[in-house]
Amino acid sequence: MEGKMKAAVMNGIGKMGFTERDIPTPAPDEVLVKLEYVGICGSDLHYYETGAIGDYVVEPPFVLGHEPGGVVVEVGANVKHLSVGDRVALEPGKTCGHCEFCKEGKYNLCSDVIFFATPPVDGVFQEYVAHEADLCFKLPDNVSTLEGALIEPLAVGFHAAIQGDAHLGQKAVVMGAGCIGLVSMMALKARGVSEVYVVDIMEKRLEKAMELGATAVINGRTEDVERRIKELTSGRGADLVVETAGTEITTRQAIQIARKGSNIVLVGYSKTGEMTLPMSLVLDKELTFKTVFRYRNIYPMAIDAVASGKVNLKGIVTDIFKLDEAQKAMDYSVNNKADIVKAVIQIWEEK
Ligand SMILES: [Zn+2]
Ligand SMILES: [Zn+2]
Repeated sequence: MEGKMKAAVMNGIGKMGFTERDIPTPAPDEVLVKLEYVGICGSDLHYYETGAIGDYVVEPPFVLGHEPGGVVVEVGANVKHLSVGDRVALEPGKTCGHCEFCKEGKYNLCSDVIFFATPPVDGVFQEYVAHEADLCFKLPDNVSTLEGALIEPLAVGFHAAIQGDAHLGQKAVVMGAGCIGLVSMMALKARGVSEVYVVDIMEKRLEKAMELGATAVINGRTEDVERRIKELTSGRGADLVVETAGTEITTRQAIQIARKGSNIVLVGYSKTGEMTLPMSLVLDKELTFKTVFRYRNIYPMAIDAVASGKVNLKGIVTDIFKLDEAQKAMDYSVNNKADIVKAVIQIWEEK
């Protein structure tokens, strides 16, 4: 498809703008996708506010956004499983396929990954993208491209649940009720965990957690988390804790509320990357720490969970902005963290 497209670009810290680029031509193994919705992720906001995450430094103009859903409008010569008009969720990371991690199926650990909106690779706050067809997953009729965009964060939630060996009969706790906390809670429930308690300090997020199926919520600012979990689990403690808040306080609480012999899954990155934790207690309880880096082999399962009604993915969206409002969308998201759970940019309207 010949022509120009609009892309929202980050021109500097706190500065969004627009640019016109050529609509990309898909390679033989790629499809061209007309993007309909792209989620705004915490990492996008972090790049926008500070210009970097660790060693990844933004060189403006840079395109943010790595949570896309859209419609296939052109198909490369070698692509068999997709056709024009298919609605798809795009997995944002293209890996090498040859290294030991790729071969073991742990491709999220590949060092040669090319991932949307991770400098220097541009993201997808733009009208079209050409992407590896194998990383585009067809959505069933009852799953919208808005939900398609949100499969990306949901995949993190499922990876956390799987890493923690979540299963039927457990009582689990999720620390943090931001987007990743909520999708983790829903993934735990989808995998059969019957009781999931959610801890946060923002009322609006706790309300959202209840609305989306939490068994109970605890406000860590006003309640004694340890005591409440004791009450809720008849003194046993949590069979599984998923930590998404990335703070020392909540990680310590996770250790305190975990039942002996249980798993704690660390998902949230802390600000400094370092923490002081009560390790003797960890040993006394023989706790197992698991961690999460993105996800692997999860998209088909996550899409099925949404299609079959096990996960109310749309429910996490609190704000939708147009591509033209990119500046407002980013500023509003940065300045209203207590009110926004998940914001999404609508690129083209779904028909
Ligand atoms: Zn994300
Ligand atoms: Zn690899």
